[in-house]
Amino acid sequence: MPADYHTHTPLCHHARGTPQDYIEAALGAGLTEYGVSCHAPLKPEPFDDWHMLTSDLPTYFEWVDTARTHAAGRVPVRLGLECDWLPGCQGWIEELAESAEWDYLIGSIHYLGKWNFDNPRLLESWTRIGVEEAWTRYWKEYSAMARSGLFDFLGHPDLIKKFAHRPEGDLRHFYEPAVEAIAEAGCAIELSTAGWHKPCQEQYPAREFLTLACTAGIPLLINSDAHAPEEVARDFDRATALAVEIGYRETLLFEKRRASRISLGEK
Ligand code: ZN
Ligand code: FE
Ligand code: FE
Ligand code: ZN
Repeated sequence: MPADYHTHTPLCHHARGTPQDYIEAALGAGLTEYGVSCHAPLKPEPFDDWHMLTSDLPTYFEWVDTARTHAAGRVPVRLGLECDWLPGCQGWIEELAESAEWDYLIGSIHYLGKWNFDNPRLLESWTRIGVEEAWTRYWKEYSAMARSGLFDFLGHPDLIKKFAHRPEGDLRHFYEPAVEAIAEAGCAIELSTAGWHKPCQEQYPAREFLTLACTAGIPLLINSDAHAPEEVARDFDRATALAVEIGYRETLLFEKRRASRISLGEK
């Protein structure tokens, strides 16, 4: 099984489970490595109730240490963060990057301006903004996030489809500029299995995006975005089969922000 590098902790207020529970799930799935990447603090604080606070970081490190102790000699545990790409966030992310020995930083987009578009409580904004406009803005920001060079890989590439809002027709004209930006930046992406359990009923990103990314030589990780122990490595067989079908043969491991390649079928 590949590593699962996109997983959460209760510090973001919308995930549950102990470090021990998550490690047991990782061991049960036979993962190569396990990585913790909870929602990073956002400035200005308090931003909302969906992230840890800067003052929670010591507790976060303790949580990961507990996981490491429990996993010792059985599965490596990596220290990551899922960072939000927001206008003007670069300085803050650079500061965060310096603040600990991260194994990797994930860049994700969950906000367009102030709108948290993946929050099921804020769905009425979809009618105000419109699908075409939301998609246009989202993909423009996704390219900017890739070009920032701040992240080791990018999270759930087409999260904007979460509630099944998709423009009509061929969507590749949205994907192509983003794929180009990601490839030029030498960044990697994740195939997130979480989408199979959301109204969009599809992995993130769509097959067409994966095909373009594979052709462009963009490395791929397979992640669950687990917010509960039973979600760790969920649907990894299905995701691996899809990645192989599209043409992927390798995936990445990260240690202290250095990537290494391993075969997708390994272990
Ligand atoms: Zn979350
Ligand atoms: Fe996310
Ligand atoms: Fe996440
Ligand atoms: Zn996520």
